[in-house]
Amino acid sequence: MYRIIIHGGAGSWQGNKDRVEGALKAIEEALEASLKILEEGGSSGDAVVKALVIMEDSGFFNAGSGSVLNVEGVREMDAAYGDSEGNIGAVASVRYPKNPIILARYVAENTDHLLLAGEGADSLAARLGMEKIGPPNERIVKRYGELIDGYKGMRRFDRNRRVAEYLYGDTIGAVALDMEGRLAVGVSTGGIWLKLPGRVGDTPIFGGGFYISEDYAVCATGIGEAIMRGLISYRAYQEYMLTGDVYRSLMVSVDEARRIMPESTGLIALDKHGSIAYRFNTKHMMVAYYDGREKMFKLDSNE
Ligand code: ASP
Repeated sequence: MYRIIIHGGAGSWQGNKDRVEGALKAIEEALEASLKILEEGGSSGDAVVKALVIMEDSGFFNAGSGSVLNVEGVREMDAAYGDSEGNIGAVASVRYPKNPIILARYVAENTDHLLLAGEGADSLAARLGMEKIGPPNERIVKRYGELIDGYKGMRRFDRNRRVAEYLYGDTIGAVALDMEGRLAVGVSTGGIWLKLPGRVGDTPIFGGGFYISEDYAVCATGIGEAIMRGLISYRAYQEYMLTGDVYRSLMVSVDEARRIMPESTGLIALDKHGSIAYRFNTKHMMVAYYDGREKMFKLDSNE
């Protein structure tokens, strides 16, 4: 038995039809490539990383090459990796690697640490000979220009409201189960548009943006500040421990996130028995999965 569920971010994918189409194609490609690994008996860790690398490189998501820019126009990315064999690692605020998810997995499997940030993480990526990220694409640069103009002079309250409306989203994550019964989780993001330099979101925070045990794996997307306040991934795990029900674990934790901040959160999860689920309280969430019966990829909507 093998399973995978991938997300392309909770938020509002309004407006750009070409971008939605491009992103759907990329998530489908990520699903096919990771399923091939699982079908051939490969590990859930390899499947998750493969899916996320394809999506980081596609430029359509807020991760890797498509990452959003901070208020100074610079990319600072967060990513995390975990598996049921106890490897857990994350990187925060990195500017160097083309694929932060590969660096996060390296931290998980080869260092004594759980989280490396900023310059130290970047110089590790360079020392390891990892590929360096290229300049942001035209779409991102254009969007930055539009947003920064509107942003200047805005009151703090209005800025927070805008973040809640559409300055976050399109982050990526995946959880998988392989034929040997091993679980893995991966998450990668550029964070939120116009964040202050040095801001770190929920994505690399164990228990916040992701959580994994021997029998359950979960990851989050949405407004990191809300997700961290509620330790939402850990909250989902607690509910799973009580009930053994993957769907219920997400129902309860997404509701909890809604109480902290409405329209803030989406989650995907999977357990060792192969039950998969996703749930979100935002307008949209892009997902792709194989649940043992069918392959599916779509932009799902709460509207
Ligand atoms: N959770 C990410 C962050 O706050 C953003 C996202 O999921 O879109 O950094």
